[in-house]
Amino acid sequence: MKIYINGDYFEKEDAKISVYDHGLLYGDGVFEGIRAYNGKIFKLREHVERLYESAKAIHLRVPIPLEQMEKDIRATLKVNQLANAYIRVIITRGVGNLGLNPFTCGTPQVIIINDLISLYPEDLYEKGLEIVTVATRRNLSESLSPRVKSLNYLNNILAKIEGLNAGCEEAIMLNSYGMVAECTGDNIFIVKNGEVLTPASSMGILEGVTRNVVIEIARRLGYKVKETTLTRHDLFVADECFLTGTAAEVIPVIKIDGRPVSDGKPGKITRKLIKEFRTLAGL
Ligand code: PMP
Repeated sequence: MKIYINGDYFEKEDAKISVYDHGLLYGDGVFEGIRAYNGKIFKLREHVERLYESAKAIHLRVPIPLEQMEKDIRATLKVNQLANAYIRVIITRGVGNLGLNPFTCGTPQVIIINDLISLYPEDLYEKGLEIVTVATRRNLSESLSPRVKSLNYLNNILAKIEGLNAGCEEAIMLNSYGMVAECTGDNIFIVKNGEVLTPASSMGILEGVTRNVVIEIARRLGYKVKETTLTRHDLFVADECFLTGTAAEVIPVIKIDGRPVSDGKPGKITRKLIKEFRTLAGL
């Protein structure tokens, strides 16, 4: 597999950047995770726009224009002759000294990695996931906005560790006010009385591309969708629950903090949304 770094391609073993890059020293940079299904890159424009917005928010100038980035992402996929892939795009602050000052850094490094996706095991899409709420709160929006998909994922990693220690692959993070925000790498939805509900972006979440696609699909299917405030109580009494994300796609949740969601089986609307999502992605 070839890795793109600043317009050149390297074998995996030779794809290297400096240990003085602030992406490594301070997690100073941004990234995206994108999927290609059957040769078509899913929602490329949306992902690249979010990447450039994340960069702008941290005062990082992407060294190539957005249209060039799209071209290079497509070209990398071609070089690797992949029809189905997970695409990781990374922009680091670049090489600096050991001080924090990002303005001392050289050119930001642009990296594109293609890999094969490792989804949750297929049977979980049939049976559904068990998840727990963890104590680690989502970053305060006023400190490090969850809307920035930055290379500093420690907030999510600490929550993930708590989830794994509790025997769960994914974990619910609350915001600093105790409202449901999102999972460590996925957005969360519930269904209640036929309505589809998800935390509003003002709750301090990464506004997922998959989340927005699922909202569109649900509305097209005639469901009322509300971006709102959700508490753990709302999750406990939900009729259905599911998660969305580029890697996970749409996956049902059947147990939250030990409580079965409804009858403990993936819900009807969830299954409909999974089917529609797969059709839209070209699966
Ligand atoms: N929230 C977080 C914290 C994430 O890391 C991700 C995955 N990138 C998501 C939500 C889902 O976003 P998307 O659908 O754009 O992959």
